[in-house]
Amino acid sequence: MLVLPMTERIPTTTLDTNANKIYTRRTQGFYQQLRRYTGIPLLLSYVLIPWLSINDRPAVLFDLSAQKFHILWMSFWPQDGILLAALLILAAFLLFIATILVGRVWCGFTCPQTVWTMMFMWAEDKCEGDRNQRIKLDHQPWSLNKLLRKGSKHGIWLLISLITGLTFVSYFYPVRELLTDVVYLQASAETYFWILFFVGFTYLNAGWLRESVCKHMCPYARFQSVMYDKDTMVVTYDTGRGKEDCVDCSWCVQVCPVDIDIRDGLQYACIDCGLCVDACNNVMDKVGYSRGLIRFTSQHAIETGHTQLLRPRLVAYIISAAIMTGLFSFTVATRSPVSLDVVRDRGTHLFHTVHDGVENVYTVKINNMGTVDQTFTLSVEGRHPYILKGHHQATVRPGEVYVLPTRIWRAQEEQSRPHDTLEFVVTSTTNPDISARQKASFIAPVKVALNAKG
Ligand code: SF4
Ligand code: SF4
Repeated sequence: MLVLPMTERIPTTTLDTNANKIYTRRTQGFYQQLRRYTGIPLLLSYVLIPWLSINDRPAVLFDLSAQKFHILWMSFWPQDGILLAALLILAAFLLFIATILVGRVWCGFTCPQTVWTMMFMWAEDKCEGDRNQRIKLDHQPWSLNKLLRKGSKHGIWLLISLITGLTFVSYFYPVRELLTDVVYLQASAETYFWILFFVGFTYLNAGWLRESVCKHMCPYARFQSVMYDKDTMVVTYDTGRGKEDCVDCSWCVQVCPVDIDIRDGLQYACIDCGLCVDACNNVMDKVGYSRGLIRFTSQHAIETGHTQLLRPRLVAYIISAAIMTGLFSFTVATRSPVSLDVVRDRGTHLFHTVHDGVENVYTVKINNMGTVDQTFTLSVEGRHPYILKGHHQATVRPGEVYVLPTRIWRAQEEQSRPHDTLEFVVTSTTNPDISARQKASFIAPVKVALNAKG
């Protein structure tokens, strides 16, 4: 385990732009390109996924009002909460594996905070110019030029924030309906609140707080160091070589989004974005030295020249992740594609006496959790010959719940029990293996039963 030095002063987060503002320098290189080529597909996926449809419904929709989640061809219900928990645990294991192997690459390349900040910084660079131009502009008195530059930057930031807010809400509210309702002022106050909340959240986080979130708010930054070992590949300054080759140009500091000097050693604030690697490689090219004074490497590699890839802790995490993946896949593949919920009528009468018999009323909910339309037959089994009145069949679309009001009749004979348990059964007409059962109680008048005993 490698513990990072925490003795340095931890600066406070502030919105005061003059006090703590970081003016990062633009750089080019492999890691800068890699960040771009991982960020763009993630952004596009985020914006486009709500527009995709499968079986005439959104491919991904967290339908909170109906208490169901649609993810591609699968639908998850409250009873599938264990699957979602398993998915989160699996994601945590994958994050641990990535951290042990290559440090905070999640933070540096794929975390939404990083990707959105990159996009906001790109807009800033286009509107206000490079590092020196931005510093100069901030120190200039207000003028039309400054107003236009600042105004266009904030306009683009707000536009990106609006698209982000609308897109986020469209994971919970079908996107086409959302846009129509918002434009025609038909959406609920709650919907407008959440859109505005995420607009403000994005604007504040990516525009103003930026990597302060990574440094001071993200819990992952605090515990990631305990996952490092001497073979973890992190952005490292080669101190031995630096005594000869570092030209003290400070480019590695100027490009750093968290404003640290990697030459001071491994620091908790470093998000392993690799921008200082690119900056230093460019300097090394200019001065004619070999690249790699700052590079992704491990402490072991610096000391001994090699990195051990497979370590016991890493193997344990990989095995755990493989087991979780297997269990999750098995549970999803073998779970019944139908579930049944039977609720007794909550009316004032527990039963009705009808035609020499007794009738109980139920609400039957047939939940098609599969991927295709299914026609189900409803039947009832019990100690007595129960007769189901009303509809016996229902065609249910994938991800839908079909509500079937049902009456069950039973002859009231001398030997009949006043309270009995019966079982509702739904079976697919095309595949008898797809079925579900649910027990329910049947209530008859006690008086008749007592008479029968007497
Ligand atoms: S030190 Fe280098 S890798 Fe770490 S955050 Fe700064 S630029 Fe990125
Ligand atoms: S960019 Fe490289 S050469 Fe320049 S100060 Fe940083 S480590 Fe030294």
